[in-house]
Amino acid sequence: MYICHMQLLDGVLVSAHIKEQIKTEVKEWQAGGGKKPHLAAILVGNNPASEAYVGSKVKHCEELGFDSTLLRFDAAITEQDLIKEVERLNNDDNIDGILVQLPLPGHISGDSVINAIAQGKDVDGFHPVSVGKMLLGQPTFLPATPYGIMLMLEYYNINTAGMNCVVIGRSNIVGTPMTILMSRNANPGNATVTMCHSKTKNLKEFTLNADIIIAAIGRPKYVTADMVKPGAIIIDVGINRIDDASKKSGSRLVGDVDFDNVAPLCSYITPVPKGVGLMTICGLMKNTLLAAKLRTGK
Ligand code: NDP
Repeated sequence: MYICHMQLLDGVLVSAHIKEQIKTEVKEWQAGGGKKPHLAAILVGNNPASEAYVGSKVKHCEELGFDSTLLRFDAAITEQDLIKEVERLNNDDNIDGILVQLPLPGHISGDSVINAIAQGKDVDGFHPVSVGKMLLGQPTFLPATPYGIMLMLEYYNINTAGMNCVVIGRSNIVGTPMTILMSRNANPGNATVTMCHSKTKNLKEFTLNADIIIAAIGRPKYVTADMVKPGAIIIDVGINRIDDASKKSGSRLVGDVDFDNVAPLCSYITPVPKGVGLMTICGLMKNTLLAAKLRTGK
């Protein structure tokens, strides 16, 4: 078996470094008379995973010296009323960034709610104008998870120019923006990108040719060792809860990659947890600080 020197892409290390940078930037910004960044998070219903994600975002605001407001709504709220709440936040001069935790209940169109967010406060980077600007390479808010992955590649000085990059998954929040960022003329970037999804035939043919695989599928341990070229870089976005009788909770989190068997083959790999998830928070916080600066800036 091929064994190469594998390096873990450590979300704990990189996010700590980036959070220190953000803290310093906030202090400098405030010392110059700038406004404390203020993030408003909207949570509809009580999906446990969404509760955990929003809770972590609010906690990070505190840690980094931002203000935050968590608005919770019953799952029965109408789309119209939710859009009214978004509009109220758009018009609130104290709020710099608005995030709507997805998924929303089935009777509410996520697209309509996101379209209602003022683009200057779209710190998740999901608004069509933000996405369009990203596609055109104009400065904008980048979607938090792909942004976090780019920050991680940058931290480890991984030169992706000319690499074959396979992104598995084409969601609007991860897979699709990832393909855009990896193919743009920048570093990291400049990769030759293939986007794969559930209709892709012979996925393995593509992944075996990949220098870097970014897996955003939502299926536990789906990317197995036989699908990976020795020396490849693996970015595992997946967060899947599986049963594990050895844990007190009876379950544990795993990624979309079969880490134990794939890791010995790779040059670099992100763990789950403590990998991409922590970087996503960094992307969101950087966007929120940018929003405050652009909105109130001098
Ligand atoms: P979606 O369910 O929106 O998208 C999944 C994508 O995977 C789809 O494009 C789907 O294809 C594709 N897919 C599904 N099955 C296969 C298959 N067998 N072969 C190839 N492609 C397949 O998920 P998200 O993009 O929102 O999230 C993906 C994963 O990442 C989840 O585990 C989620 O929890 C996690 N996540 C983690 C974040 C983090 O911060 N670490 C942030 C966001 C998400 P098709 O389009 O054809 O249906």
